[in-house]
Amino acid sequence: MKILIVGGGVIGTAHARAALKDGHEVIHLERDPVPQSASVRNFGLIWVSGRKSGEELDVAIRAREIWEEIHLENPELIFRGNGSLTLAQNEAELRVMEECLEKSDARLRKWEILGKKETQKINPALRGNFLASLWCPLDGAVEPDSVLTSLRNGLSKNPQYIWRSSVDIIDIKSSGDRVTAVAKSGEVFEGDFLIHCPGADHSSLFKEQFDSAPIRKVYLQMMSTEPFDEVITTSIADGDSMRYYPGYDVPSLKHLPAQHPVAKENHMQLLLVQRADGTITMGDTHAYDEPFPFKLEEVPYEYLHNIASDLFGTKLPPIKHRWSGVYSQQTEGAVCDRRRIATNIISVTGPGGRGNSLAPAIAETTLKEIQ
Ligand SMILES: Cc1cc2nc3c(=O)[nH]c(=O)nc-3n(C[C@H](O)[C@H](O)[C@H](O)COP(=O)(O)OP(=O)(O)OC[C@H]3O[C@@H](n4cnc5c(N)ncnc54)[C@H](O)[C@@H]3O)c2cc1C
Repeated sequence: MKILIVGGGVIGTAHARAALKDGHEVIHLERDPVPQSASVRNFGLIWVSGRKSGEELDVAIRAREIWEEIHLENPELIFRGNGSLTLAQNEAELRVMEECLEKSDARLRKWEILGKKETQKINPALRGNFLASLWCPLDGAVEPDSVLTSLRNGLSKNPQYIWRSSVDIIDIKSSGDRVTAVAKSGEVFEGDFLIHCPGADHSSLFKEQFDSAPIRKVYLQMMSTEPFDEVITTSIADGDSMRYYPGYDVPSLKHLPAQHPVAKENHMQLLLVQRADGTITMGDTHAYDEPFPFKLEEVPYEYLHNIASDLFGTKLPPIKHRWSGVYSQQTEGAVCDRRRIATNIISVTGPGGRGNSLAPAIAETTLKEIQ
């Protein structure tokens, strides 16, 4: 089949790869000269640890396998199976971790609780204030700045792949067994099937369907520092992350002490990963009510920088960049919002804060559906 894919973020790009793998021709269309949305604004984390038991965890584990395959087929793409350490700073957080280890799927996640010294063997830069950690060796990371380009460079070796940027699709029509996508410039693209991967743009196309879909937008604040002169061998999360990821939903979670007011007000956790260039990406805040603020709030940045510095036992380098991002989130617990718009049009969005982690497996499932 000739498949048109609208959207050059990680979801669209993962679908392009999956479609080519199945032997299809792909025309991949993106509105911006280079993608600028959630897929380049994220941490690049491939996060299995806190996934919800059941389908979400299965999809995350499958996606992690495919990310590794992608890396093998495309050595240019920077992928690190660096694992993650979630750090407990008090007994109540440690109790949650201990209870997590009793979950029936703890072994699937390869979780292990490490004391402070064992944690430091894995990540010697951590010399600050924490008691123990939850180690998840399955977690990984890619570089958001380059991952889409590297993926496309790999795909472009296949003559069946065409990438077109600066193409804003303003109309899509299905007629019989053909589908057409019309660009703002007037250019028309024709195919047998279309996969629409619009990210958080719920209004340019198929607005009526999205208006009544169980999806919402979520706004986040992020930052990165100047380069750090030590190697941070793993990704890091603080204990607050266990309040947000459903994989840690165990009875002792309700005995966690009250969250710091800044973290509570901004729905925050600390996630942190060192980039290949030595800088540290940190976040994040969450806001759910639109319209989202256009001003970045300084207080959460100071708070996160202090929390992270406390864990490392040293003042981390100053913040160099601050940015915000928006993702689309399915609100009824599904892995994503995958909807059949017409017999030959499918739309895939709503993976929430896990789209980078899950994209390859989400795409694999879509391709199975359209066989
Ligand atoms: C700050 C932040 C941190 C995050 N951290 C992580 C993380 O560490 N790990 C993780 O797993 N997930 C993370 N996420 C979530 C993840 O980034 C998203 O789920 C994922 O990037 C969504 O990918 P997407 O392709 O659906 O959307 P997008 O990246 O938004 O891409 C959609 C693309 O479609 C294009 N498009 C839309 N409509 C049209 C049209 N009509 N014509 C042409 N092009 C069109 C847009 O221009 C855009 O480039 C984070 C998200 C944010 C915002």
